[in-house]
Amino acid sequence: MLNELWTDWLRWQGGEPCFRIYGKARPEPHWRIIDVYATRRRNHGSGWPLWDGTCVTWSAEIICVGWDLAESILREQSHFPCSRQHPVEVTQGRIRGRSRQKSADPLSTTSASEVLAHECGHTWQAIRLHSLYLPFVGAVTLFREGPHPWSYFENQASELGQFGGIVKASVCPELMKSGANV
Ligand SMILES: [Zn+2]
Repeated sequence: MLNELWTDWLRWQGGEPCFRIYGKARPEPHWRIIDVYATRRRNHGSGWPLWDGTCVTWSAEIICVGWDLAESILREQSHFPCSRQHPVEVTQGRIRGRSRQKSADPLSTTSASEVLAHECGHTWQAIRLHSLYLPFVGAVTLFREGPHPWSYFENQASELGQFGGIVKASVCPELMKSGANV
């Protein structure tokens, strides 16, 4: 109940999502539709403390990302679309230590779609933990993946999250205009 109210309030605050996606975690049998919202405050270099270059999963149905990441996801998906039959998962189950910016080995870099798959893992945690999700996962998410006990939720999100593609005709006009779909 609290979760639904929270999701409704976020939708009312956020307006239209930049697109909708199919997402789930490996143990789930069915795909869910998740709204992805984008804001420039979360762009890399935005200068907003705690927002700069970050994504957040607010509830089982709402993920917020930077506008730059949303453009990258759309660009990647227009070249190499994933699907519910062939979803994107986080390679090797870890995002940490694989820079998105530059790397000598292109296979070791993290794609924007993998970041979204990680966030899909968090949406599953939001379902399982209900109202405990934000206090528990929200508090530790800044620590990122690692060998420590407090990295449990971050590690699990990377290991289990699956991104099954952008829902057809769900991309908002502003993002379409940005040219990220070419
Ligand atoms: Zn995370």
